[in-house]
Amino acid sequence: MQTLVLPTYDDVVAAAQRIEGHAHRTPVLTSRTVDAELGAQVFFKCENFQRMGAFKFRGAFNALSKFDATQRKHGVVAFSSGNHAQGIGLSARLLGIPATIVMPHDAPAAKVAATREYGATVVSYDRYTQDREAIGRQLAEQQGLTLIPPYDHPDILAGQGTAAKELFEEVGPLDALFVCLGGGGLLSGSALATRALAPDCKLYGVEPEAGNDGQQSLRSGSIVKIDTPKTIADGAQTQYLGNYTFGIIKRDVDDILTASDAQLVEAMRFFAERMKMVVEPTGCLGFAAARAMADELKGQRVGVIISGGNIDLDNYARLLAR
Ligand SMILES: *Cc1c(COP(=O)(O)O)cnc(C)c1O
Repeated sequence: MQTLVLPTYDDVVAAAQRIEGHAHRTPVLTSRTVDAELGAQVFFKCENFQRMGAFKFRGAFNALSKFDATQRKHGVVAFSSGNHAQGIGLSARLLGIPATIVMPHDAPAAKVAATREYGATVVSYDRYTQDREAIGRQLAEQQGLTLIPPYDHPDILAGQGTAAKELFEEVGPLDALFVCLGGGGLLSGSALATRALAPDCKLYGVEPEAGNDGQQSLRSGSIVKIDTPKTIADGAQTQYLGNYTFGIIKRDVDDILTASDAQLVEAMRFFAERMKMVVEPTGCLGFAAARAMADELKGQRVGVIISGGNIDLDNYARLLAR
């Protein structure tokens, strides 16, 4: 077996330089109500205010910035129905690189339209009968496109790590950091930043209760694959961690926790009502888990990464209605 060379914090630093002036340095917000509820000091890193509405822009822009002249000319291909597609679409437009996005034929019309607006070519596939990875790979081979996966890629995860880097630079060391977990790009990048900037900080990944493959993987020591989980956290419906992401998570993450859909809705309500923020269900994972662990966090300085805010408003209203 080929051994992977895992990216390091230096790659996160290099990514931060590449995205500077292109990605937003998102705000870190606090809430007295949250601090009182948890008996802790909580710092929210708000990637729901990132360009295109989620941290995915960081990794995508970093990865595309590293393309050589030939790669730029031929273009990029990505498969995603969600935020990775938008991140690649926007980054490609900014860098003048042609983009092809493979999306399921039943993807929400608004998402397909948004991706087209970025100038990307959308290729649809039937999610019940066709394999999107195979389609992506075939396009890459036939047209000379470079395939950029949503999480298991050194440049993607190094880019995602810049959010935690900014958080530590702004607020200093923390006792605990909670990070949403799907395929592990955000968590593994955050781990590189955490171990460099706040080595004693406890680092927790948080995934949906219905899809705890990451928790099972961390506890068993090897990647566990599950069926696509049914959860409202659509950004974390991944079936398994990647080889790069798991390599870092296994080494650097203290534990992986879960949150139920009901806890996510409670957190969404809280963000809307008290902090006036629209946060998508997946973006609520970190806060939901921190709330559930309040007893252990008393008196601590706690970071929570809010990963994104992209949600169809009809769906948002339906979830929040009692
Ligand atoms: C992609 C995504 C996640 C999960 O990120 P991974 O890098 O796959 O772990 C979490 N929240 C939002 C909003 C996302 O778009």
